[in-house]
Amino acid sequence: MKDIPFNKPFIAGKELEYITRAINENGHLSGNGPFTLKCQEWMESHFGTPKALMTHSCTAALEMAALLCDIGPGDEVILPSFTFVSTANAFVLRGAVPVFADIRADTLNLDESVIEQALSSKTRAIVPVHYAGVACEMDAILDIAHHHGVKVIEDAAQSFNSTYKGRHLGTIGDLGCLSFHETKNVISGEGGALLVNDTGMIPRAEILWEKGTNRVAFANGQVDKYTWVDIGSSFLPGELTTAFLYSQLEQSDAIIAKRVRLFELYRERLEALETRGELQMPYQPDTCQTNGHIFYIILAGETEQKQLIRYLTANGIKGVFHYIPLHDSPAGKKYGRTPAPLPVTEEMYSRILRLPLYYEMDEADVDRVTDCIIRFFTGT
Ligand SMILES: *Cc1c(COP(=O)(O)O)cnc(C)c1O
Repeated sequence: MKDIPFNKPFIAGKELEYITRAINENGHLSGNGPFTLKCQEWMESHFGTPKALMTHSCTAALEMAALLCDIGPGDEVILPSFTFVSTANAFVLRGAVPVFADIRADTLNLDESVIEQALSSKTRAIVPVHYAGVACEMDAILDIAHHHGVKVIEDAAQSFNSTYKGRHLGTIGDLGCLSFHETKNVISGEGGALLVNDTGMIPRAEILWEKGTNRVAFANGQVDKYTWVDIGSSFLPGELTTAFLYSQLEQSDAIIAKRVRLFELYRERLEALETRGELQMPYQPDTCQTNGHIFYIILAGETEQKQLIRYLTANGIKGVFHYIPLHDSPAGKKYGRTPAPLPVTEEMYSRILRLPLYYEMDEADVDRVTDCIIRFFTGT
């Protein structure tokens, strides 16, 4: 029997045709070409944001966000400890201090009730991470941010097409950062986008994006020569990447519908184990429509987590844990600040197990995974 991997990159439509078109017809392979524009317009119209800028990763989008918010040495940024390193690195690169906050036990998202405690006179931004494509409590987070005059930068790496009260994730804060890394729902190998929701930030965003030049204004005929006007870097993806991505964007409804179907199937198959108290399945608040990004289960503890990973591996199935909490990592201790204990983060990372979920997976694969988990718990 074939092994079931955790994730598998895929082609959903005309990816290869569009790459050929980029080379043969468009003759434009560097950044900011026809396919980049198509991707940006697609995101602006589907998500409802005034400006999307394609980047070579979500990491790059987060770094642009830190630059756009003028984050500098000594500034503080509040984020969950249970996240990917890029969420923190983007700010550490500017000399700022990531302040690690705890997560909610139900969604594993930044706990809005502990943000006030983490605030100081140095706080400049709050970075909610929408874990597994499930929305953070954005109303509460925006209230706190407005009250204290700090920016909100959404790490929406996992939440392509998910919504909170009908609004797309990544469009709610001042800035939103998406990922098209091959492990996400919609992919281009490496890839990302910055959603600039605060229109006042758009002109500078375009300058940072084009290596600190006013090349975008020049291309639009707003200035008659282009030159170095600000700091910046090469944040753009090449056109081969955006050609691939554009086809995925066209197919994104089908891709997400498929993932949500597999997600719901997992839920059905494991319901009995949850009822018996053997495990917990993901919680999704009514305020939020999600994209089936991660199906995870919460186990009794670390011993069971390790045993089940081994049992799945022995049966040709790849299940994986998730983030080692940043506040407890070598770099997190060196660069970050943890003003209060993070009991939920410390507990959940040793209890979570993510199950295989990818576009080409079918119902029989889900059955094989869930049958294996049921055997693990019941011995039959
Ligand atoms: C994947 C991910 C990132 C990084 O995305 P890249 O496109 O690989 O740079 C950042 N934050 C979160 C929460 C992620 O899941």
